[in-house]
Amino acid sequence: MDATPSANCLPANQKSTHQQIIPLTQHNSADGLIYRDTDSEHSKRVALSKAFNCSEPDVVFQELPNHVALAFTIHGCPFQCPGCHSEHTWDPNTGHALTDERFESYLKQYRGLISAVVFLGGEWNASALRNKLRIAKQFGLVTCLYSGGNHVSRALRPHLDFVKLGAWKEHLGGLDSPTTNQVFIELKEGELWHDRTYWFQEHLPSTTQNTTVFQTSRGVSYASA
Ligand code: SF4
Repeated sequence: MDATPSANCLPANQKSTHQQIIPLTQHNSADGLIYRDTDSEHSKRVALSKAFNCSEPDVVFQELPNHVALAFTIHGCPFQCPGCHSEHTWDPNTGHALTDERFESYLKQYRGLISAVVFLGGEWNASALRNKLRIAKQFGLVTCLYSGGNHVSRALRPHLDFVKLGAWKEHLGGLDSPTTNQVFIELKEGELWHDRTYWFQEHLPSTTQNTTVFQTSRGVSYASA
């Protein structure tokens, strides 16, 4: 996820009769917070790293509809999606450290120009990401996480307004593809609340019901538990 961050992580949601909850494998990160997913050696190395590094942030307009957002690509993604356009960011020790001070400096620099922040990854270091989300809220900004996982931890949810879930699968496409495995969800008071994937798919009608299971056209479900 880089200067064109949504290319891989964009994602959808038509209703299906299939019921398939993706099983989760949870790991404890270095700070003791559970993040989730993947059993690869790479993901285990990322889990043990305390790095929270990023590329230079980009101002983006499409990742969060109706907002101008500052997007931070966090290095060290553990998901290793085949076809990832941002493989050069998989090493958590590349990029530069996104300390709280540096993050605040960025937000001051862009104050009045942005209405939101988008994190492209970083959930594998939940305490560091949570600190950044808190700071963003103090600046009055809307918060959004693009995750390649199927779950967002309860440690992060109270600080998020939106989350994109689901790995990049090239043959299914991103959020704007009718066959995507990904979903874009609005959170409310720390709970997954409303499926907003239709924002990316103009041919889909808006959903009207809240639910605890968000299901894509491919039969993949994302449970809020
Ligand atoms: S979630 Fe997948 S597509 Fe996105 S950066 Fe990680 S490996 Fe790449």
